Amino acid sequence: MSQTETETETETVPDVATPTWEYDPAPEARELAHIRSSYGLFIDGEFVDPAGDGSFATIDPSTERHLAEVALAGGEDVDRAVAAARKAFGPWSAASGRDRGRYLFRLARLLAERAREFAVLESIDNGKPIRETRDIDVPTAAAHLFYHAGWADKLDWAGLGPQPRPLGVAGQVIPWNFPLLMLIWKIAPALACGNTVVIKPAETTPLSAMLFAELCQQAELPPGVVNIVTGAGETGAAIVSHGDVDKVAFTGSTAVGKAIQRELAGSGKRLTLELGGKAANVVFDDAPIDQAVEGIVDGIFFNQGHVCCAGSRLLVQENVHDLVVDKLKRRLETLRLGDPLDKNTDIGAINSAEQLERITSLVDIGEAEGGERWSPACELPSSGFWFAPTVFTGVGASSRIAVEEIFGPVLSVLTFRTPEEAVAKANNTPYGLSAGVWTEKGSRMFWMADRLEAGVVWANTFNRLDPTSPFGGYKESGFGREGGRHGLAAYLAAPALEG
Ligand code: NAD
Repeated sequence: MSQTETETETETVPDVATPTWEYDPAPEARELAHIRSSYGLFIDGEFVDPAGDGSFATIDPSTERHLAEVALAGGEDVDRAVAAARKAFGPWSAASGRDRGRYLFRLARLLAERAREFAVLESIDNGKPIRETRDIDVPTAAAHLFYHAGWADKLDWAGLGPQPRPLGVAGQVIPWNFPLLMLIWKIAPALACGNTVVIKPAETTPLSAMLFAELCQQAELPPGVVNIVTGAGETGAAIVSHGDVDKVAFTGSTAVGKAIQRELAGSGKRLTLELGGKAANVVFDDAPIDQAVEGIVDGIFFNQGHVCCAGSRLLVQENVHDLVVDKLKRRLETLRLGDPLDKNTDIGAINSAEQLERITSLVDIGEAEGGERWSPACELPSSGFWFAPTVFTGVGASSRIAVEEIFGPVLSVLTFRTPEEAVAKANNTPYGLSAGVWTEKGSRMFWMADRLEAGVVWANTFNRLDPTSPFGGYKESGFGREGGRHGLAAYLAAPALEG
């Protein structure tokens, strides 16, 4: 046994009471978000009424307050949006890469200029803390636009084959957990490569997409290059199955992703799927434990655990289990849950009643299966959708909370003794999106990364996303990459990509 192992085994958390800090409220100004009472569809550069008279409400999940009525797009509206995208495709794809890059730079700069407005709107519509929208979602979205603006005139040198061509009209469907960021992840590479798009935001979070539509007008983006239609699953299905869509990019649940893959088989349409995950966050006994605890918290409680790559399974080496769990619990007692617009808030609201119901039922199952449930003392607001950060210890490897994606602030803790056992347990999932490893040994880090079946493996960190780095999954987490040079391949046709 190494000296480090001996030391960590005997280390205990000193029995010092965690100071309880009182924070005065520090709310961001709600008025920064100008929410209209109703929204139409964004087709051919204009806000238009849908063909039918259907609409749906979007609410603030932290209060259940009604925010706006949003147009429900039907098949006729999707036809119109695809026709606008088709008409725009010719001139847009013929434009020089430098010109397309200029538009993307303009969108990036406008987004950065209006960052506060976007951050407030996103927090109100989604329930996520302003700290996250302000410091992560909006700046990362702008960074993706800047990054792809830089690629637009360099595609011939991207190593993807000679003179790669755009695919045509991209039909894109996104989820609610990072509404703006997912929108930009889809739009930026598509436009940089010369495609036009019809995109549908999730039904519970359409507002930042509609604000982005305003940005497209402000940037004088040619009409039809970006079309945004709102609605639920049926609207998404109409985009996916549309005969004049050349490429489908879907981010969402594995169940819907599988149905789309079945439907498109043999259609000749290009497809990328970014689906669910159940990431292992593996902590070895030589890891810097305090740093690892921060990574565990960030891994699963960031964005209320509504993160496809969330580190929802903590695999901790048996001899440091008690130490890690003690430190983790202490850290969780300091997290503040509440008003998403308060700058002190760490944990915001659950995005919808439906998602809250799913989390609650899986947590009940976890308890029934013998897991030991713990949450810090934490008062939940009386209205809105809330769930306290939750840790399960004593979780069996085949327990449903160790296997299924909960998509909420719930961590399942499992143990291992050897690196081989860690790999076997980490890979014991139908998913393969991400993983984290905490160790001071570089050689062990590489050994683990070689064996973990995950699209991304973070080393002594977690949930780091960067536009230059490709992101995507294996197995039931989907296929295709977003971001980086690899992400361009999803929007280009070239001999090297078709072989
Ligand atoms: P979901 O599959 O229910 O919905 C996602 C989107 O698909 C929504 O816009 C929805 O309206 C639309 N949709 C629903 N049924 C459809 C159909 N039959 N055809 C076409 N579109 C349809 O998923 P969700 O609950 O909104 O999102 C959570 C899921 O998304 C989680 O599983 C999460 O892991 C995954 N996700 C993955 C990534 C990634 O990059 N891998 C990123 C974010 C979220």
